[in-house]
Amino acid sequence: MHFSKGNLILILVFVGGIILPTAILSFLGFRNIQNEMFLAQKNFDENQAALEKDIEDAIEKEQEKIYQETKAASLFLYEQPRSLLEFGNAASFKDVAGIEAIFLYNNGKLVYPDISSKHFYPTHDFSSVVASVNEQRLFEAEQDTSSREVLLHRLIKTNSPFITKNEQVVNILGIIRLCYKEKNYEEALKWLKVLESNPHLQGYLHADLTRSVNLLHFEILVKQKKHAEAEDYSLSVLNQFLQSESIEDIPSAKFFFETAFSQILSFEDLSQEKRESFWNLRANFNRQLGYMEILSKYRKNFEDLLSNDFMSKDGILYRSRDDVTLFKMGYPFLSGNQIVIAKIDTEAFRARLIERVKNVSQRWKNVPFSIIDEKDSLLAGAIPDSSGVISQTRISGAFDWEFSLYEKDMKEIRRESRQRMYLMYGLLLFSLITVVFGSFFMLRFIIQEHKLLAMKANFLSSVSHELKTPLTSIKMFAEMMARGRVTKVEKVQEYSGLIGKEATRLENLIGAILNYTRMEHGTGAFKWERLDFSVCAKKVFEAVEDIGVEKGLEFHTKFEPGAYVMGDYTALYSLAQNLIENAIKYTNAPGEITISVYNEEDRAVFSVADTGVGIDSSEQKNIFNDFYRVGDEMTRSTKGSGLGLAIVKRVAETHKATISLSSKLGKGSTFTVRFKKVD
Ligand code: ADP
Repeated sequence: MHFSKGNLILILVFVGGIILPTAILSFLGFRNIQNEMFLAQKNFDENQAALEKDIEDAIEKEQEKIYQETKAASLFLYEQPRSLLEFGNAASFKDVAGIEAIFLYNNGKLVYPDISSKHFYPTHDFSSVVASVNEQRLFEAEQDTSSREVLLHRLIKTNSPFITKNEQVVNILGIIRLCYKEKNYEEALKWLKVLESNPHLQGYLHADLTRSVNLLHFEILVKQKKHAEAEDYSLSVLNQFLQSESIEDIPSAKFFFETAFSQILSFEDLSQEKRESFWNLRANFNRQLGYMEILSKYRKNFEDLLSNDFMSKDGILYRSRDDVTLFKMGYPFLSGNQIVIAKIDTEAFRARLIERVKNVSQRWKNVPFSIIDEKDSLLAGAIPDSSGVISQTRISGAFDWEFSLYEKDMKEIRRESRQRMYLMYGLLLFSLITVVFGSFFMLRFIIQEHKLLAMKANFLSSVSHELKTPLTSIKMFAEMMARGRVTKVEKVQEYSGLIGKEATRLENLIGAILNYTRMEHGTGAFKWERLDFSVCAKKVFEAVEDIGVEKGLEFHTKFEPGAYVMGDYTALYSLAQNLIENAIKYTNAPGEITISVYNEEDRAVFSVADTGVGIDSSEQKNIFNDFYRVGDEMTRSTKGSGLGLAIVKRVAETHKATISLSSKLGKGSTFTVRFKKVD
């Protein structure tokens, strides 16, 4: 095969630019795959070290963050309200996620919570005392109201050795509760006042019971809708509470104030100003009471931490005992011996750390690790079934956690490298297919191009030959006549006739070339109109009939009217002309040619049948190609350009018509064109 210089360069670029790099890449890729296992193991070791560091850093950083946040929150502690008046003001207080309570000490003395600076004792559980109201006496009292008075009187007056003061109070409380239950509020209040003002009994009124009395008193005032009195009463109780030297009933006080303030806040007639005050009061006071409760509960732990001198000013020290974790830090904002102790909200603190660890470990999905807490439960990662432990480290800080790294499953490494190998194979296969297909199409394109070029060259030489032959004849006859050698009239007539015939041949040839060029330029030059194909075909027939008759051929025609199609007249004319002329050209006398135009449902059909030389089945698909001529004797002796059927095919295509051919060598051919009919 012969390639042009341009094509050769294209092939070289293709080979050099695609095939060569693909081959080099494949080679490198295969070499890499061989190293894959070694690389995977190396990579894994590096990842393990990095993960371990990442986890340690994450925990340290999150703890540092909580510590910094606590430090920032401790700034507000000196500004917290101290007196009853201040409690009503809004105080800014900063909560830290993971910290339940925060305390400030100066020289070992508590500064915040402020109300706890008084001496207080840990509480005892008095709930059983409250519950053990002497049921028998109550029952008696319930039976007879008059006996209540007697009983009460006796209780207050008598200093009986058989009944303790505490028991006396409990009994009185029982009676007051009974009055309250019977909605006998006035009587209840009367006895409450006796109880609250009777010095004889008051001294013995235990703190827990005091709150019970207070709450009953408050509830009765609320029931009586004496809201202003109820508010004043709650404040007076608060005042008393703040002034008392020993505060030993934090849980019951908390309960009283929480209940009383919540009820007050639900009063509809409470002014906006008072509502704000009570709101702040409740927030400030309850927070401080809550902190005090913690302080009293874990008193030992606090004392232990306070007495520990090992503490730099900006350092941090954790102490975990009895399920409570405290941390101590130097108060950074004032000189002197200030210390902040914070109680960790274990769940929230732990949640923050775990969240951080999980975020970090997500980046190292293929490194097996686990973090186990002090209670042996898994916090992050997973414990693999088969792989052994490589290393175990303790994570220091607030919690005692264990961080373990495990061997990587060799199966997994193998699987991973196999996966990469498959991917590589896939990619190689893909590029190979692309290259093969690309080459195939390119080659086909080049061959086609080559054929076309050869055909065009062939066309040019045959066309110039065809043009030259008639011209030579015309020139010869014209010269002969011009020299005056031909004198006989018959000869002059014969020669002029020959000149005319040759000129027509020339004209036809030029017409075919022009037609073909017109088709090559596309349908832009077409003038679309509705026309009757019968009329068009008939015109063609009338123009060429003589040639056929002269040749000794017999014509049969049928031009059914109304075969309307949308099309360009000139194009359709040349379609009909080429088919009819071919039939005449390739049929020897005596022969028959049948030309018909008829309607068939939504189609207009044009068919030209001859009894001529026919076309071999192997040639049938080629004859519609540009410049194609069958290489038999008949064709060679017939003049033509090889463009006629190419024009027919193009016209049919542009008119969305179909062409069918049925032909048998030596018997004849029938060309049928079916157009879409229009109304
Ligand atoms: P040409 O100018 O050679 O006639 P065409 O494109 O019209 O070119 O036809 C292509 C070839 O098809 C012709 O060379 C001829 O061999 C063959 N051919 C066309 N029409 C007929 C027909 N009616 N009978 C036999 N052969 C035909």
